[in-house]
Amino acid sequence: RLEVSHIVKEFGGRRVVDDVSLLVMPGQVTCLLGPSGCGKSTTLRMIAGVESLDRGAIVVDGELVCDGRQQLPPEERNIGLMFQDFALFPHLTVAQNVAFGLKGRKVTDRVHDLLAKVGMTAHTNDYPHQLSGGEQQRVALARALAPKPRIMLMDEPFSGLDDRLRDDIRDETLAVLKDEGTAVLLVTHEPAEAMRMADEIALMRDGKIVQRGAPYNIYNAPVDIDAAAFFSDIN
Ligand code: ATP
Ligand code: MG
Repeated sequence: RLEVSHIVKEFGGRRVVDDVSLLVMPGQVTCLLGPSGCGKSTTLRMIAGVESLDRGAIVVDGELVCDGRQQLPPEERNIGLMFQDFALFPHLTVAQNVAFGLKGRKVTDRVHDLLAKVGMTAHTNDYPHQLSGGEQQRVALARALAPKPRIMLMDEPFSGLDDRLRDDIRDETLAVLKDEGTAVLLVTHEPAEAMRMADEIALMRDGKIVQRGAPYNIYNAPVDIDAAAFFSDIN
C-alpha cells in the first residue's frame, strides 16, 4: 500500500505540489485527476523517486521510502511505471521485453502467465515493430507488472492510443491490474477516464487536492463551480 503524507514541491519559489496526501490500497485504483499543469506528473515523479521532495513523506508497505532528509533510490523502491512513451526495447522480442531484468528459475512461467493475461501469447516471439500500438501497450503492461511491483504508477498511459481502441485497452488493463492485486495510482486529465477506471478519485487543482471520493459521488456533488465545469465536458 502507498501512503503519501503532506508532500510539497517548489520550483523557483512556486509551489507546484502543495500539501498532497494520498492513500492507495492493494487492488485499488486511485486516479489523480486535474487540468494540465496542476502538478500531477510532479507528484508521480516524487513517488517514483526521480524528483526530490521539499517536505512530507512517502511510505510503501510500511517502509519509509523518502522524506525531506532521506531518499531510497528509484530502483530500490519496487514501483512499476507506465507512461505514455512506454518504448519497448526494439531489439528484444515480446517475451524478452517482459523478462528483462527478472532473475531466477521461475522467469519463463511468469512471462507466459503475464502474456496470457494480456492476451499476447500468440506474439511471444514477435518484435515490437511487428505489433500495433494497442498490442505494444499490452506488452508494456506485462513488462511493468513482471517484477510484481508493490505499486503501479501510470501517467496518462492511454493518451497515445486511437479513440476506438482506448476504451477496450482501459478495460483490459483494469482487469489485469485487479487480477494482480496491485495498488495503482493513475494520473489523467480526462474525467471520463477517471470515471471509468477509478475506485477513488483525487481531484487536483493548483497543486492541491480539492476533493476526493468515489467517482459518482464527485461527479454528482462537485465541490465547487470549477469542479462542476471540469466534469461538464465529460463524454
Ligand atoms: P499535464 O496534464 O499537462 O501533464 P501536470 O498536472 O502533469 O500537467 P506537472 O508536469 O506536474 O503538471 O507540472 C506542474 C507545474 O510544475 C507546471 O507549471 C510545470 O511547468 C512546473 N514544473 C514541472 N517540472 C518542473 C521543473 N523541473 N522545473 C520547473 N518547473 C517545473
Ligand atoms: Mg503530466
